[in-house]
Amino acid sequence: KSVVAIVGRPNVGKSTIFNRLVGERISIVEDIPGVTRDRIYAQAEWLTTNFNVIDTGGIELGDEPLLVQMRYQAEIAIDEADVIIFLVNGREGITGADEEVAKLLYKSNKPVVLGVNKMDNPEMRETIYEYYSLGFGEPYPISGSHGLGLGDLLDAVVDYFPKQELNNEDDDTIYFSLIGRPNVGKSSLVNAMLNEERVIVSEIEGTTRDAIDTKLHKDNQDYVIIDTAGMRKRGKVYEATEKYSVLRALKAVERSDVVLVLIDAETGIREQDKKIAGYAHDAGRAIVIVVNKWDTIDANEKSMKDFEKNIRAHFQYLDYAPIVFLSAKTKKRLHTLIPAIQLASENHAKRIPTNVLNDVIMDAIAMNPTPTLKGKRLKVLYCTQVAVKPPSFVVFVNDPELMHFSYQRFLENKIREAFGFVGTPIKLFARKR
Ligand code: GDP
Repeated sequence: KSVVAIVGRPNVGKSTIFNRLVGERISIVEDIPGVTRDRIYAQAEWLTTNFNVIDTGGIELGDEPLLVQMRYQAEIAIDEADVIIFLVNGREGITGADEEVAKLLYKSNKPVVLGVNKMDNPEMRETIYEYYSLGFGEPYPISGSHGLGLGDLLDAVVDYFPKQELNNEDDDTIYFSLIGRPNVGKSSLVNAMLNEERVIVSEIEGTTRDAIDTKLHKDNQDYVIIDTAGMRKRGKVYEATEKYSVLRALKAVERSDVVLVLIDAETGIREQDKKIAGYAHDAGRAIVIVVNKWDTIDANEKSMKDFEKNIRAHFQYLDYAPIVFLSAKTKKRLHTLIPAIQLASENHAKRIPTNVLNDVIMDAIAMNPTPTLKGKRLKVLYCTQVAVKPPSFVVFVNDPELMHFSYQRFLENKIREAFGFVGTPIKLFARKR
């Protein structure tokens, strides 16, 4: 998916435009407490095109002066985005700060679409010509608060999207990434995997935006490790801020089939681990939980069971994710990782034939009658799988209002019991026939 970043000095309306682009989508998060997306990065849609938007205004660098902040935000946009929306304020005209941002954007060689915001009425739009002087071609008059002019702006943005997407659907390469807080051993684990026996490694040339992806071949299967930045691009000033590393992780998650959520056995589970895992779950990716640094634990069956219990208690929403215990350092149990990735990926892309699915659903209903609401009973007509990655099911019913949350969970569980789906979330929706 292409990435669009919104840049501009403070108060030009970046967040308003961001919210407009994202619409209600941002509030469509799973009904799982404590799992919400960071508001600086979200999915948006224009006509038939899906893309991701970054509100660089949400990224702050401590209490640095304004100019430093702006430079830093522009730099991130330049690094991360395929297309940049440069926003200025049509009520104030071009300011020195706008010119500063413009200078950075010139140098970037990234396509820039100029939006002139707060043009709420037609008279104001007559001043639009001044903005040609910024040097980004046609300025688009818009009004974030009234939602005007966004269509033309987005047409221009979408026109710049790279035509070919990287992860094409019928390629059976498994894309995976590693996420986890600093020092859990992400880089060490990548290196350990790359140095494993019988693994053929090759770097993919010019694949993605700035990230270095690595191709692996093992046991007749191709894999691509997506670089979760910070892994190899360390040292840059802005790696220091948390939101930025979150952003990089989200981007990697977005492109993955499988996400490895790393936990440090030595320090145990921390609050930050839960937040990070929540992202992968929200994105609907297959997940494998990896407990690294297992060499530091006096390991036996019991310690493993205890650790597992602890993880299950902290990550209830990840009950489908298998747990792998290993040491990137000593490579102990490292061989158990690839099979777990493979299984999770297989389940993530699994399709269940409609007739088999309906047998399971009808058995489930026979066992546990459908709920009633105000004397009206839920009737399930049939069920069908509508998507993979993750497997998504629609049950057609007489009235979706009657589908109680707990009954929905019950049906999901029955589907899981019947078909496995280890390592992947599944989704189930009720629709009126
Ligand atoms: P990253 O920030 O997640 O990429 O973490 P690194 O890979 O840089 O590792 C952080 C530190 O943990 C380094 O000092 C590693 O040597 C150490 N480390 C990584 N994996 C292991 C492991 O399996 N066992 C032990 N004992 N140390 C590890």
